[in-house]
Amino acid sequence: MSNQDWLNRSLQAVWHPCTQMKRHERFPLVPIASAQGAWLTDFDGKRYLDAVSSWWVNLLGHGHPRIKQALHDQLDTLEHVMLAGFTHRPVIELSERLAALSGLGHAFYGSDGASATEIALKMSFHYWKNSGKAQKSRFISLENSYHGETIGALAVTDVPLFSATYAPLIARALRVPTPDARQAAPGQSARDVALAAARALENVLAKHAGDVAALILEPLVQGAAGMAMYHPDYLREARRLCDQYQVHLIADEIAVGFGRTGTLFACEQADIRPDFLCLSKGITGGFLPLSCVLTTDNVYQAFYSEDVRAGFLHSHSYTGNPLACSAALAVLDTLRDEDILAGNRDKAARFSGILAPLAARTDVRHFRQQGMIWAFDVDTPRGDFAQAFFAAMLERGCLVRPIGNTVYYMPPYCLQDGEMRQLAEATAEALDALAREAGGAPAQPALP
Ligand SMILES: *Cc1c(COP(=O)(O)O)cnc(C)c1O
Repeated sequence: MSNQDWLNRSLQAVWHPCTQMKRHERFPLVPIASAQGAWLTDFDGKRYLDAVSSWWVNLLGHGHPRIKQALHDQLDTLEHVMLAGFTHRPVIELSERLAALSGLGHAFYGSDGASATEIALKMSFHYWKNSGKAQKSRFISLENSYHGETIGALAVTDVPLFSATYAPLIARALRVPTPDARQAAPGQSARDVALAAARALENVLAKHAGDVAALILEPLVQGAAGMAMYHPDYLREARRLCDQYQVHLIADEIAVGFGRTGTLFACEQADIRPDFLCLSKGITGGFLPLSCVLTTDNVYQAFYSEDVRAGFLHSHSYTGNPLACSAALAVLDTLRDEDILAGNRDKAARFSGILAPLAARTDVRHFRQQGMIWAFDVDTPRGDFAQAFFAAMLERGCLVRPIGNTVYYMPPYCLQDGEMRQLAEATAEALDALAREAGGAPAQPALP
């Protein structure tokens, strides 16, 4: 069967995520037959460099041998057992490993990032309720934040395209200014912007802390906002203010965890520990859905009671799935045994060198990098830049999905210098080709 056959069948039967399906009348849907390393292969044998780690999940490369082996081994012993009333080796070992790495000793599992957000929000509120402060029922999130798209998570997600339609269903959260370093005025540093945003946070806390359970944020990089990067002093200030005003700090490291920003967890760069740490995406190397919320002894103890209703009665059927936990253990083993983060530091420096000519282009603004994430904003009159650039890159054998006018790379850690060079060349070619085409189609909203 060819690409075209699979494509037609998919459009008949599959409702694709984050998509206005009618757009596929004009834009390609790409059926993928197989993948290895940084490369995807379609049914006609054409290859695509996966520069976005398949929506930020594929940490170490597709078909990673060690993760595959761990899954084979686990399949031979236990595929799944319910986690209420039962436990198993992979979930115990993973929880112990994550506790040692994060300093947060209690792990609660879900299946997707959004379910981790829901768990953290519910747990924070319930903690205050168990502590006699049920009025602390509101949440604070940042401008341009993204924490998932279930109804609870949408309350703290500031992307009107995803939330406005459902406004009557969504609880209203408080919003504070983003510390996005791109806002720096001439003469201002990223740190100045961060400290100004922290002052705005303090004003909101001073007024509302009595009603607020938690502040939720994406440490260092607001991913879906278009890889908005900010100075770690914002996190330091946020931690200090949350302590001062008795509000939990929820760190959503769903996108940035597991070395993406250069350290295993982004919070390490501000030397802070959150009250809740949400993890997902790269946790299984992109093999299986798994999410996790790590929290403190203090939070855990507030639920420990003779009263069943004081317990956290949340559950998902696949909570702590043994296969997913085994994949996560193989990821942690690989990061440790191959000292991947140290390797990434050298690699990131080389990649930034390879990308220097792109950064110097006159149509490129705010070129930025944090760990294994690169992003820049394209100065273009085209309203359809994101779609047109995505298509132009596909033609050139690269999967790059801009968010609005922001082009970003978030490659699997296995990416090699030669592959980064290919990506840089294809990007320059595609930018030139689009600039030569007049006008383009009308503006469309930005999708991640
Ligand atoms: C992707 C993402 C989520 C949601 O995760 P899903 O698995 O897509 O539900 C939440 N927070 C951040 C920061 C994310 O990038």
